[in-house]
Amino acid sequence: MALDKTFLEERRQHLLKLIARYERLSRGEEASDGFTPEARRFRIECSLPAARAALERLESGEYGVCIICGDDIPIERLMATSTAVRCVFCQERHERETPVLSPERWTPAWTQE
Ligand SMILES: [Zn+2]
Repeated sequence: MALDKTFLEERRQHLLKLIARYERLSRGEEASDGFTPEARRFRIECSLPAARAALERLESGEYGVCIICGDDIPIERLMATSTAVRCVFCQERHERETPVLSPERWTPAWTQE
């Protein structure tokens, strides 16, 4: 799928902002964000790597393609969850198999800021 250049650039900027914020969080520079300690730890240990991985895929031109089945990830999903690297079907299966390591369960409200 050829994603629109403007869309990709917008997602890139969004991911860069997310990564910068997660990095500040991991350095303890962003203190008053209202997260519980668990949610904070989750961002640092799961969401930060997920955001970096999504950015890498964006740079290599693989953004928007499911890492498991190779299907296109719907744009609506990429809009809602910029770090999505799986289609909905594969994500659901992934969450069933690894319930703790599923950043998308935690992130939507936050990533849309
Ligand atoms: Zn898939």
